[in-house]
Amino acid sequence: MRTQVGIIGSGPSGLLLSQILFLHGIDSVILERQSRDHVLGRIRAGVLEQSTVDMLRAASVGERMDREGLVHGGFSLAFDGRMEYIDMHKWTGGSGVMVYGQTELTRDLIEARMADGAVIEYEAPAVAIDGFLDGKPRIIYEKKGERRELLCDFVAGCDGYHGISRQSAGPGSIKEFEKVYPFGWLGILSDVPPVDRELIYTNHERGFALCSMRSHTRSRYYIQCDLNDNVDIWTDDAFWDELRRRLPETAAQKLVTGPRLEMSIAPLRSFVAEPMRFGALLLAGDAAHIVPPTGAKGLNLAASDVHYLSRALIVYYAEKRTDLLDRYSDTCLRRVWKAVRFSWWFTAMMHKFGDEPLCQRLQLAELDYLTGSEAARTAMAENYVGLPFDRFE
Ligand SMILES: Cc1cc2nc3c(=O)[nH]c(=O)nc-3n(C[C@H](O)[C@H](O)[C@H](O)COP(=O)(O)OP(=O)(O)OC[C@H]3O[C@@H](n4cnc5c(N)ncnc54)[C@H](O)[C@@H]3O)c2cc1C
Repeated sequence: MRTQVGIIGSGPSGLLLSQILFLHGIDSVILERQSRDHVLGRIRAGVLEQSTVDMLRAASVGERMDREGLVHGGFSLAFDGRMEYIDMHKWTGGSGVMVYGQTELTRDLIEARMADGAVIEYEAPAVAIDGFLDGKPRIIYEKKGERRELLCDFVAGCDGYHGISRQSAGPGSIKEFEKVYPFGWLGILSDVPPVDRELIYTNHERGFALCSMRSHTRSRYYIQCDLNDNVDIWTDDAFWDELRRRLPETAAQKLVTGPRLEMSIAPLRSFVAEPMRFGALLLAGDAAHIVPPTGAKGLNLAASDVHYLSRALIVYYAEKRTDLLDRYSDTCLRRVWKAVRFSWWFTAMMHKFGDEPLCQRLQLAELDYLTGSEAARTAMAENYVGLPFDRFE
């Protein structure tokens, strides 16, 4: 099989890239290790930055998001018995975020690609990539027990943190930066109305908690947990009791509980691989970087990589220009590092790191400053709604 852009991974980055390329007349094939049902069953991100929302609309996949998504103009920070509102709308001159599940966004993208006759090979793991440094890129993959090959002009490595694209670059040509946090997030998804209209982030002496949602009737809650915890030892009641203890009194009283639709533990990690381009192999999304979910940046960074990558490929095919491809890695990484910084800072301010009283008091002082200073609130709000894309033409 031959295509212009061979895409490994049908997560948000691979699907969105394929959709944008298609709208510009560029052919792609997606190889996905998992089944379509598995991909559609994953519960992950839920907060979309304004620029991600704009990209989805421009890619003709924003219709259901605009109908069913929840527009948020702010969020609350709870700490030290207080609950303070960060008015993103006010401090950014009108920007906000959209709450719309990654599962729904993935479904919209898959349906759009299928309707246009796209080739998405499910249960087709890529096992090797070669030729990307000498102009003959080739992806070797498995399908129904057979080895097959996909010839292409470019390989887009959109295969997440555990994919093969980054590993294929070779250990000598890549530099990795990593921090693994000493705790995880235990999350529950339940068909109960959210405790508040917008998100509540809580710093509590028992550990962090987040009240999030997917719709007016479906809630997503998280509590900081031990990395060695196992979902099997957490009953639904134990989860709700622990969440209630960490919430401010007013929220705890309003909390509606119910049975889990899903419960899982996510480890927290900051990770960046440099560079993001190796000849005709270009990394995008979690394949190149991971952030702890506190700042809700992972999916949004995947979208911003796709913004730059699709621009570079469109200009290459339309005008035979390679300058944007040459700048792809540096341009992405400037924005990536700022989001990694913001996610690390927000995580450090909100979570319990051991029992050191000094550390706890410093977190409370920072939250007091943040919620009391116009400059600090503005910085928080503009990072949360997402920093603007760099010019890339
Ligand atoms: C619990 C949790 C909560 C999160 N919350 C948020 C949030 O609120 N906001 C936010 O922005 N982000 C959030 N994230 C992060 C977000 O989900 C990811 O950043 C996003 O999924 C990245 O998309 P991607 O397409 O780059 O990678 P992925 O979604 O990981 O997709 C990669 C795909 O590649 C496939 N693949 C892997 N190896 C191969 C192979 N060899 N061959 C073929 N296919 C392969 C995988 O099966 C997968 O389908 C959260 C993540 C988690 C786990």
